[in-house]
Amino acid sequence: MTEIKQTMADVQAEAKRCLYCVDAPCQKGCPAGVDVAQFIRHLRYADVKSAKRVIKTANPLGGICGTLCPSENLCQKNCTMNYCGAPIRIRDLQKFACANAAYAPDLAPASGKKAAVVGAGPAGLGCAAMLARLGHEVDVFEKDAAAAGVVAREIPAQRIDASVVENDLAELACGRIRFHYNTPVTAQKLEELKQEYAAVFVGAGLAQDRMSGVDIAEGAPVAGCSQYLADLKSGKTKAVSGTVLVVGGGDSAIDAVCASLEAGAEKAVLAYRRSRAEMPACDEEFFAAAGKGVELMYMVSPVAVAKTADGGAAVTFVRNRLVEKPGEARRGFEAVPGSEFTLNAAQVVFAIGKKADAALVAGTPDRDTLRVAGTNCFVGGDWLNGGATVVEAVAEGKRAAAAMDALMK
Ligand code: SF4
Repeated sequence: MTEIKQTMADVQAEAKRCLYCVDAPCQKGCPAGVDVAQFIRHLRYADVKSAKRVIKTANPLGGICGTLCPSENLCQKNCTMNYCGAPIRIRDLQKFACANAAYAPDLAPASGKKAAVVGAGPAGLGCAAMLARLGHEVDVFEKDAAAAGVVAREIPAQRIDASVVENDLAELACGRIRFHYNTPVTAQKLEELKQEYAAVFVGAGLAQDRMSGVDIAEGAPVAGCSQYLADLKSGKTKAVSGTVLVVGGGDSAIDAVCASLEAGAEKAVLAYRRSRAEMPACDEEFFAAAGKGVELMYMVSPVAVAKTADGGAAVTFVRNRLVEKPGEARRGFEAVPGSEFTLNAAQVVFAIGKKADAALVAGTPDRDTLRVAGTNCFVGGDWLNGGATVVEAVAEGKRAAAAMDALMK
């Protein structure tokens, strides 16, 4: 689905297609609970400022989500218009509203309470924004030199413009949120924060790329996806050449193949262990990558990476076949005996997930309340759920903020 033109006339034309459904299935599909029908109604009458207020009230990172959300799997998947043509392009409308109006949040009177947030990624920002609106002072501790986590650090500029991130961050600022950059929080520091603040939220994200299950020779050109993308985005890696082989099937893997081509790779190959039907990458990003000439290999798993004489990698793969797994939504896979083959690449990138720093939080958070029992510590975002969408992280941050507010009252 191509993006609607970001002009008022096109936006109004799209808004007029909306049925303004009473039961609002689109809103139920939005993890942040944005009142979609309401903001689209405002756009229909060219009231962009009111549309943005509806979005931002529910989602402090509405601009980022209006750019990155896999809406085909969320609000747009639920849209009634799927039954009579095409769904309303909700994400594009949200993107327009957030880019074309000013916004400042409504603030409750100061509570006199202070909360700490560990991590300035989407979960931490969602939590901090809501706590500040509820009247609390918030100190945000971030290990990096900037906020927005993977959005700022890893997602290529071709997918999200820096100005979108800057706008959302600027609209969080209300004099009640202080950012402490380059300030990693250890388990010991977290204990100190729990003493110092009325409530603490840990939305620290995932710290390390997973590289497990593959025999990797020392010195072979192998990188974890998040580090690879971060190095490309920061300019630490100026250019790449030859063939880049990316192992994985999520949106990060798609980002890695596209960013590789953008940085000069002659060929980018995506190797995934199951079929396209099981691939977690959203259709829009997948088809965009395919359109750029990314080569796709399905139902293969790497088993070993050797270093070649020219400093490249020789990756041994095994072919898989799909198997039904009772009780599981996705089909599983198993290796086909004797199916090994080798592929050479200048660079191998593993995009098979990331690990949390499990030692950071003592105790297990409750999945509903997000609170670690018997403490003033709450946990959410990727650290807890293993990695989800930006909007799901924001939603968890919001949920934690409501629980922290109740604790602090
Ligand atoms: S489900 Fe679709 S048509 Fe109905 S209110 Fe939401 S966006 Fe409009």
